[in-house]
Amino acid sequence: MTARILVVDDVSANLKLLEARLLAEYYDVVTASNGPDAIEICELSKVDVVLLDVMMPGMDGFQVCRMLKASPATTHIPIIMITALSRPADRVRGLEAGADDFLTKPVNDLQLLTRVKSLARLKALTDELRLRAATTRNIGVEQLLEKRAGEDDIPTVLLVEEDPVHARQIRHILRDHFDLDVTHDAASTLVRASSHSYDTIIVSMALGQDPLRLCSRLRAMESTHLVPIILLAGDKDEERIIRGLELAVNDYVLKPVERQELIARLRTQIRRKRYNDGLRSSVARTVEMAVTDPLTGLHNRRYLDSHLESLFDRADARKRPLSVMIADIDRFKAINDTWGHDVGDSVLREFASRLRRNLRGIDLVCRYGGEEFVIVMPETDLAVAKKVAERIRTEIAGAPFPIGDGRRSVTVTASLGVSSKWEADSVEALMKRADFAVYQAKLCGRNRVAASAA
Ligand code: GH3
Ligand code: MG
Ligand code: MG
Repeated sequence: MTARILVVDDVSANLKLLEARLLAEYYDVVTASNGPDAIEICELSKVDVVLLDVMMPGMDGFQVCRMLKASPATTHIPIIMITALSRPADRVRGLEAGADDFLTKPVNDLQLLTRVKSLARLKALTDELRLRAATTRNIGVEQLLEKRAGEDDIPTVLLVEEDPVHARQIRHILRDHFDLDVTHDAASTLVRASSHSYDTIIVSMALGQDPLRLCSRLRAMESTHLVPIILLAGDKDEERIIRGLELAVNDYVLKPVERQELIARLRTQIRRKRYNDGLRSSVARTVEMAVTDPLTGLHNRRYLDSHLESLFDRADARKRPLSVMIADIDRFKAINDTWGHDVGDSVLREFASRLRRNLRGIDLVCRYGGEEFVIVMPETDLAVAKKVAERIRTEIAGAPFPIGDGRRSVTVTASLGVSSKWEADSVEALMKRADFAVYQAKLCGRNRVAASAA
């Protein structure tokens, strides 16, 4: 997978060095020698990963990082800070500025390439989600995304650690900021992780069983597929860390664990996960909105159109009965005219909920348009469909609909038409017969059920 990497450094020799290494791996490389240029490049073109020098005259790396992370247009771009300083406090400053990772100079080749690869892969996932979520922007889902639920929740973390002393240390470090669960082996980890939703899983590499095998199984499981994994490693684990990063482990922390660093790294992972979760659910919401009627929460006509055909075909293939019912509210226009459109809306909502209450889970209930509802009933013949329709008619007419604060009410009735599938029938003909039956019910005085001749 190729990616476009922006390298930012005020020393041109450093730029050249990093550029050469990345070009050798077939990355597309752009360079900037100061902060403002870097920000402009990120805003105006597609950048997949930023390698950012910390010490630059004018705007330093921390500032650039904070600004990129603060802007919605660039917040999703992964940033690796490159620092000459190796004091933990400085690394932590980078992570707290929102950096996704850091490397210390002189930069270790293998670490550089593995980190870039791992972050570019994450970025590709985020890009895809952003693209799909883009269509939701004009309907205000973007705002939902910004203050998505759970932002202020205490994150939950699972630690996999055999050694009770280490486990206790980590628990001590995390106690004020995270909810921590601890497991001691692979089997119990898989069970726990599949039944709880963790924000991050920390896997100790000192595990008796192969910790990387555990990571790859966590990656393969549906429920933990996207949960960030952080390795807790010793200084002799470098080779295995690199293999871990290739297995899509997200990050690692070296023992002895530095308190601030662990907390900052967890926060970075969790922020990224929540950002992606938010995007993903906004995509799911868009799909759902496309097939849901916002007023009643019932399926809409588009959904009916795409599902009736397959319900019909299935009934046909299995020679099972299938019925359709159309319910049309009587003189609804008068309700609107007398009480106003808002009361009309609340009548529609109450009507929908009475329908729902009186139908089975397998029935497909849709608002077809205005005050007309279509119900598709699999495994239901005409005689039963007529009984169901009659029950619904009574439920509607039997008790007036409360309006406003509930002190007043309005009597509502509906006319219902039912039809059942014939041999050698078609969806259009079936719907047409139900429609004709409604028309008959209206003609015969409304508030009644009519069935098309079976
Ligand atoms: P009939 O008994 O013959 O069915 O008479 P009707 O008044 O129910 O039928 P008609 O089709 O003449 O009027 C339907 C009305 O429903 C007209 C329209 O303004 C109103 N309507 C359609 N959609 C909505 C809606 O979402 N909210 C509200 N409040 N009214 C709606
Ligand atoms: Mg009507
Ligand atoms: Mg109508």
